[in-house]
Amino acid sequence: MVSEHASPLAALGGVDAGGQNVHVAHLATALAARGHEVTVYTRRDAVDLPERVRLADGVDVVHVDAGPPTEVPKDALLPHMEAFGRELAAHLLEHPADLLHAHFWMSGVAARQAARSVGLPLVITFHALGSVKRRHQGADDTSPPSRVAVEAGLVADVDAVLATCTDEVRELVGSEGRDGLGADGAAVHVVPCGVDVARFTPEGPVGGPPRRMPHRVVVVGRLVERKGVEDVVRALALAPGSALGRTELVVAGGPPADHLAIDAEAQRLLAVAEEVGVADRVHLLGRADHGDLPALLRSADVVVAAPWYEPFGIVPLEAMACGRPVVGSAVGGLLDTVEDGVTGVLVPPRDPVALAAALAPLLDDPARRQAWGRAARERAVAHYGWPEVAARTEDVYAGVLARTRLEAL
Ligand code: UDP
Repeated sequence: MVSEHASPLAALGGVDAGGQNVHVAHLATALAARGHEVTVYTRRDAVDLPERVRLADGVDVVHVDAGPPTEVPKDALLPHMEAFGRELAAHLLEHPADLLHAHFWMSGVAARQAARSVGLPLVITFHALGSVKRRHQGADDTSPPSRVAVEAGLVADVDAVLATCTDEVRELVGSEGRDGLGADGAAVHVVPCGVDVARFTPEGPVGGPPRRMPHRVVVVGRLVERKGVEDVVRALALAPGSALGRTELVVAGGPPADHLAIDAEAQRLLAVAEEVGVADRVHLLGRADHGDLPALLRSADVVVAAPWYEPFGIVPLEAMACGRPVVGSAVGGLLDTVEDGVTGVLVPPRDPVALAAALAPLLDDPARRQAWGRAARERAVAHYGWPEVAARTEDVYAGVLARTRLEAL
């Protein structure tokens, strides 16, 4: 596997560390549990990292020298991908592999270079698409300008694309007025992200700050504008006479707690909370240890995920595995994971009024929350455990290997 910026060893919750780190770590481990040997290649972003680190039985992480051995924002990494590809090819000659699986477009660039030079099949999971980001972020999108064209090139060159949700298939193939990246539908396979259903469980310790209100809504995510936390803060003020008016909002994510005071997005959210009169009910925790997440999610009556767009969204799944109903935006991966009216509610993005209208009755109805939470847990276990996701990934690998071996005859 190639995951240029998202090391499976990295701390979670920072600006550039999120779902992809979790995904790569768990997928690699679950594939190893099925008998494969997995090496994850990631960029060396600190001088003192050993070349090779054992992550789990059968999974090694190799740090690749490409660019300065310091933290570099991911949008500035593209110029270093050629060096990454060269190093990767050299390593693969010494340590042969059967197949390369790139995560994120820039890994695709480095992996394609290595795959060509060594002669290996290549599959890719994009995790996020430049075309979608540009549509939603416009001038704020800091991705290199070439991203969309490079992604289209990769789609044409790789042996298979693993889309994490059906909405991504629409983006890749094109439909409903969306141009698409020209992907051949037959080479695109939906393999979702997963969740550790043995750690994210309904039973277990309940964490987070002590409760100060009858109801609690929890949001977990990087503190970036497109995660829509502002909309949740605004919703909190909208139905003062309902259960929502007796609800506290606990937000995990962003910088470590002691850096919140100098974090622009944290301060912006607190200013909005002040402006709409809910500052005393909004609690920003800063980055939470991933290990503390199950207990925090269990402390919620409802978990909210209100992104403007979301390539997949692991947090809603983590909440579901903890048996909590999710009120989420009807975008991206949430369209597959959250079953509207069965495990939660889907509402239009960027719409605090819709959020409040979904939340107020749910907070007022413990029986419904319990039934939806039970259904959510069942859905997470049935479709999104990592063993299941690894088996589906393995099916795609096997198909690609069978095809490339046949073509080589
Ligand atoms: N996460 C965490 N601590 C935090 C914030 C997030 O451990 O303070 C984890 C969260 O549990 C999830 C991942 O980071 O596993 C975020 O994944 P998601 O797909 O929801 O969002 P992304 O960050 O990839 O946009």
